[in-house]
Amino acid sequence: MNAIDRKTSGARCPICGTAAEVAFRPFCSKRCADIDLNRWLTGVYAVPVLEDEDEDGLRPADGHPDEQA
Ligand SMILES: [Zn+2]
Repeated sequence: MNAIDRKTSGARCPICGTAAEVAFRPFCSKRCADIDLNRWLTGVYAVPVLEDEDEDGLRPADGHPDEQA
């Protein structure tokens, strides 16, 4: 059996999957923490703004079969 490394607390880095380091939780290193931060800053994780609130009910009906291939 593998002994559990106390330094890692069993968590895994969400960026690369390596065992997370306590100092950089939940990441394994500052590099991965920076990657995650950069994703936030660049909007990868941003919630998309829904602009079609159809204020006037002008939203086209569903069912557009004319998808461009
Ligand atoms: Zn990592």
